[in-house]
Amino acid sequence: MNTILIVGAGGVSSVTAHKCAQLPEVFHKIHLASRTLSKCHLVAASVRQRTGREISTHHLDADNLDESILLLRTLRPDLLLNLALPYQNLTLMDACLATGTSYLDTANYEPREIARFEYKWQWQYHERFRKQNLCALLGSGFDPGVTNVFTSFAAKHYFDEIVELDIVDVNGGENTESFATNFNSEINIREVSAVCRHWENGQFVESPSFSTHRTFSCPEGIGDFEIYRMYHEELESLTQAYPSLRRAQFWMSFSPTYLRNLKVLSNVGMTGIQPVDYREKSVVPLQFLKSLLPDPGSLGESTTGKTCIGCIIRGTKEEEHRTIYIYNSCSHESSFAETGSQAVSYTTGIPAMIGAKLMLQGRWFEAGVWNMEHFDPDPFMEDLNTLGLPWSIEEHDPFLKENRP
Ligand code: NDP
Repeated sequence: MNTILIVGAGGVSSVTAHKCAQLPEVFHKIHLASRTLSKCHLVAASVRQRTGREISTHHLDADNLDESILLLRTLRPDLLLNLALPYQNLTLMDACLATGTSYLDTANYEPREIARFEYKWQWQYHERFRKQNLCALLGSGFDPGVTNVFTSFAAKHYFDEIVELDIVDVNGGENTESFATNFNSEINIREVSAVCRHWENGQFVESPSFSTHRTFSCPEGIGDFEIYRMYHEELESLTQAYPSLRRAQFWMSFSPTYLRNLKVLSNVGMTGIQPVDYREKSVVPLQFLKSLLPDPGSLGESTTGKTCIGCIIRGTKEEEHRTIYIYNSCSHESSFAETGSQAVSYTTGIPAMIGAKLMLQGRWFEAGVWNMEHFDPDPFMEDLNTLGLPWSIEEHDPFLKENRP
């Protein structure tokens, strides 16, 4: 009897809850806990309506260690899926250690006061998880997550050695909002505003955010997009797992409107993460801004178009140079029709479900704290194809002009 506890009741969590409910043979009992209980009720009602399954809902402030331990002791899940925010990662990992529970998340820990995206805090838990025969799977979303698996799948089946990696994340979706982020706006704006870092000849090299960009032509007629180089957390674990990588870069598409609005908000200090005094109250500008922006979970109904996220991997096979492009494209409209959420939540929520499934089945279970590329990519790739995120492989370099569709 497999029991899971999903923490957080936002866009990603809602997709994961729906997808887990579609697999009763794997996920026998599903609990959902979050800070705002009414949001858990909404997710549970939608799951009931779409799948006929009941999930149990609970209140939890996951910043509170004692409360988290108490809930885990009461529910005794086999696995905790942390789909709240990166701030809660360490508290929830501590609660898992205190109660003998395995752990999964989709984004690395961040302290509230500094926007640094590093695994070092969570990797320090490795020995403690190992000694208790518990498994922690880090970054089981799309990017990080599927992008790590695409890379390890390519390294396993297509190359003797991989030397260059470009991860390209395009959201070709459009909605009626003048400025909206496609996942939690506080985390999103912290991430995209950070100094850019990419891997070059054995070290990370810094450059100003949004200073390097190019045009990218997506396959399947999705269109041409301006993509900007930025830092993303999977570069840290992948460059360690594949020391043959001479260059590794992450690129994301942004519309001119998004960039213009972000620049203005940043110029006037609205993206700041340090508290300021306002009428004798301490206010964090970015948290206040988040309260004004649309909830990404509510964008599903009005969003059209597709996401297209993939990895361009260059290397050698039998001494010949080779390049492959592995990607998934996902429609906002069909994601919404199936789960009530747009494609960014959908493409994150499904890999969280697949990671949990493989852990519970013992196929991706090893004591310790691991990133996605540690495990055999094949069962994960099979599940992507059958459980909602089919992928394609093309043997060409989409960064070369002559290969543009
Ligand atoms: P949302 O803001 O939609 O949802 C976050 C949820 O967490 C909300 O229900 C929120 O509750 C809850 N929460 C926040 N703080 C606490 C707390 N202290 N205790 C309990 N619950 C809490 O975010 P998303 O669903 O868009 O994103 C979820 C996670 O997924 C984030 O960590 C994000 O970084 C990650 N992500 C990963 C991606 C990937 O590809 N790897 C892509 C996109 C997102 P409340 O409603 O009360 O605020």
